[in-house]
Amino acid sequence: MRAFYISDVTLFDGARVRRRRGVLVEGDRVTWEGPHARVPREAAAASAVDGHGRTLTPGLIDCHVHLCFDGAADFAGEAAALSPALGAIKATVNARRNLEHGVTTVRDLGGLGTIEAARAIEEGRVPGARVVPAGRALTITGGHGHNIGIAREVDGADAVRTAVREEIRAGANAIKVVATGGVLTPGIGATFTSFTPEELGAAVDEAHSWGRGVAAHAIGAEGVAQAVRAGVDSVEHAMQTTTVAAREMAERGTFRGPTLCAIAGIVDHQEAVPDYAVEKALSLVDDARRSHARALRAGVRHVCSTDAGTPFNRHGNGPEELIAMVAWGMSPLAAMVAGTANGAELLRVPDIGRVAPGFAADLVLYEADPTEDIEALRAPAMVWKGGIRVRPGR
Ligand SMILES: [Zn+2]
Repeated sequence: MRAFYISDVTLFDGARVRRRRGVLVEGDRVTWEGPHARVPREAAAASAVDGHGRTLTPGLIDCHVHLCFDGAADFAGEAAALSPALGAIKATVNARRNLEHGVTTVRDLGGLGTIEAARAIEEGRVPGARVVPAGRALTITGGHGHNIGIAREVDGADAVRTAVREEIRAGANAIKVVATGGVLTPGIGATFTSFTPEELGAAVDEAHSWGRGVAAHAIGAEGVAQAVRAGVDSVEHAMQTTTVAAREMAERGTFRGPTLCAIAGIVDHQEAVPDYAVEKALSLVDDARRSHARALRAGVRHVCSTDAGTPFNRHGNGPEELIAMVAWGMSPLAAMVAGTANGAELLRVPDIGRVAPGFAADLVLYEADPTEDIEALRAPAMVWKGGIRVRPGR
């Protein structure tokens, strides 16, 4: 069996940091972790990786990507050219790109061909990050995303229930509901509330009975509050999170994915992105910043959600999202927990997000310690997925 031993390394295991540790990988699993001074006998037969002066972490988990989009400035144009076959091809390329940046698992929150790509990666046909696909997103008739081919329009609690069942039948391992308007759909507001509480409740009840988590796209304050109350597992964007909603999220354990890379992709490229999207994004930046601070104060648990695939928001941006979350007030250690263990819990994948015996050997080795300097994430020295080494990319 293929085996390697990482010696004398600083280890962030998904929860805390310890020094002078050793980690043994046999096959696709971590089989031992402990003080390097007590290196196990099996390590003698394994190949050696020098961890001295370096930091080992679990592979990063990006809980919000769109693998069938490359992040073109003209989002609508990219969407118009999309087909299931092209979506699957783009998804395999983009899943690989995530892997090269140390992102070993992604959740695809709306795509065409992405379920098939996820399957091909799992079967080992093509290399790439693990993919937890949501299939097509659920939106109201005329709602956010209705015009880009990765969402289905559905109205009424019974129809929502049917749509959830159909996406799961097609292979979805998560469900995405679009609970408010959005920035990238022309002709609609970003903050209006779309689904009714009954529709959201039906989606959550049905998805949970199948053991699938629910992600709600929600920008406006009412939509965020309504999604939390309906019992969704994560609120994506959450740009208008009130103090009351933040408290409720903390109490319920609802995860928050602030998608700071999506905001930056638009406001930093105003000349290239369509005016309607720039105007909406600019009007929400202050709200987003205040909401992030409020959520941190309330103790809301966060995840890494880039929304990669939106304009100028490249796949493999997981490190940039965590760096941005720290720039907006989170500690580097909390950001690393968000990007690893919290993501695994949200995605309901029990054997990733930590470095411990029995867990998948999804690992990243950095020259510097990202729990002290989060920018270390930009330069992974070595990446493994399921014990197999991947060449890091730029
Ligand atoms: Zn999205």
